[in-house]
Amino acid sequence: MKNFCDNCQNLLYINTKNNELTFNCQTCLTSYKSEDDDTLRYEETKNSNLIMFHTILNESVNDDATLKEFITCPKCKHNIAKSVRLGTELRLIHICTKCSFQWIAI
Ligand SMILES: [Zn+2]
Ligand SMILES: [Zn+2]
Repeated sequence: MKNFCDNCQNLLYINTKNNELTFNCQTCLTSYKSEDDDTLRYEETKNSNLIMFHTILNESVNDDATLKEFITCPKCKHNIAKSVRLGTELRLIHICTKCSFQWIAI
């Protein structure tokens, strides 16, 4: 199961259009085809890492306990973002508190 984009290291989004499972990067717009067992696994659980990640990220924007930092959003230039560590790689992800844009810290 792919979680991160090979090109820009950002978090991928699951897309299930036309009964076909793909992983899409919203930053560089690369689309990744799923393996057969990704589809199976997705159908089985409906609760992949990606969905968990996005749920955690969406909740952390509204969670006052999440660490806030002065970081400039690449999208709207707002200067406060929340930071969350995700996955087994513990990648640091920033979320803009204004426009909710999510990006991976480098
Ligand atoms: Zn990308
Ligand atoms: Zn922003």
